Amino acid sequence: MQGFSEPDAGSDLANVQTTAVRDGDEWVINGQKVWNSLWQFADYAVLVVKTDMEARRNRNLRYFIVDFKSPGYEARPLRQMTGGSEFCEMFFDNVRVPHENLLGELNMGRHILKKTALLSTAALCAEMVGGGDWVMEKTVNYAKERIAFGVPIGSFQALKHKMVDMYTALEYARSLMEGAAEAIKEDSNDASKIVSMAKSYCGDIYKMGTNEGIQIHGVIGFTWDHDMHLYFKRARSTDTTFGDSTYHRELVAQSLDAQYLA
Ligand SMILES: Cc1cc2nc3c(=O)[nH]c(=O)nc-3n(C[C@H](O)[C@H](O)[C@H](O)COP(=O)(O)OP(=O)(O)OC[C@H]3O[C@@H](n4cnc5c(N)ncnc54)[C@H](O)[C@@H]3O)c2cc1C
Repeated sequence: MQGFSEPDAGSDLANVQTTAVRDGDEWVINGQKVWNSLWQFADYAVLVVKTDMEARRNRNLRYFIVDFKSPGYEARPLRQMTGGSEFCEMFFDNVRVPHENLLGELNMGRHILKKTALLSTAALCAEMVGGGDWVMEKTVNYAKERIAFGVPIGSFQALKHKMVDMYTALEYARSLMEGAAEAIKEDSNDASKIVSMAKSYCGDIYKMGTNEGIQIHGVIGFTWDHDMHLYFKRARSTDTTFGDSTYHRELVAQSLDAQYLA
């Protein structure tokens, strides 16, 4: 399980406040992590911590494997809007970890963090495009089957326009997601920017697609029993994970600024 986010280190993962201090052959960890997914299925967490609070923001980030059986560790479940409680917040109060649980070389933590965030963010884009495909297929099929005023509702021009907008947006998102995967595979210098372009667009159109999906399904879409609500909520939670659309647009703007001012 990944333990990156903290109350003050969400989108800005480098602002980690959890500390690890060396004591002989062990490290002593103190701090708090939040929004940790699938915790109840894991026995260990990979934690990102700071080993020197005086160091610059994203320096001295280190990775540790922490055993959940360690004294001083506590997890408290958090309820998700998708209904489950797969989330938790974790507390570390003088948790002792052997030196061999330290991962990576000194001062490489920020590179590992950046790479992990890049890969996870690109994977989330693929999840969002896959979710968008489900929404598109269900919505178009429903519009062909549902009869109102003696004709399928998909024959009404207002609904056709909505579905065409959903489809074209989804295809743009797919291209950006594939571009992000390609940029990572090629180890492109622009990979961060392209992943941010994909994440910001995929987040927006997944939310838009699930909004329209519910509208086109009418009252059956409005009821909690319909699966569209699961996708509606997943669209909101995946948009937030690893920085939302607004945050990634800001990163794209900063990257373009740096490129053109250089
Ligand atoms: C479903 C789900 C699963 C998750 N699983 C994990 C997990 O397993 N492990 C883990 O460590 N974390 C996990 N997270 C946490 C997730 O990665 C963070 O929530 C995410 O990075 C956003 O951080 P935050 O919620 O603190 O929001 P913040 O960073 O506080 O952002 C709040 C708002 O401020 C805006 N904002 C922030 N910075 C800027 C900026 N520089 N410019 C412009 N706007 C900005 C954002 O756009 C956003 O609208 C998960 C989150 C979700 C939703």
